Amino acid sequence: MNILPNIKCSVTECSYNKNVQCDAPMIQVARDGNLNHAQNSDNTKCDTFKPKS
Ligand code: SF4
Repeated sequence: MNILPNIKCSVTECSYNKNVQCDAPMIQVARDGNLNHAQNSDNTKCDTFKPKS
């Protein structure tokens, strides 16, 4: 069973993206770069991103 809520994602060049939603079984989100304290969404990133081949 998929326990993730629907994740809307506009990164359509990701191989997990299906119809502007994430279809991965789980995703890993991390702080961007070398930050140790995110202050806004720009400071976060999806580590699960995989480019379409
Ligand atoms: S893995 Fe990340 S970038 Fe790719 S569709 Fe899911 S949320 Fe978007």
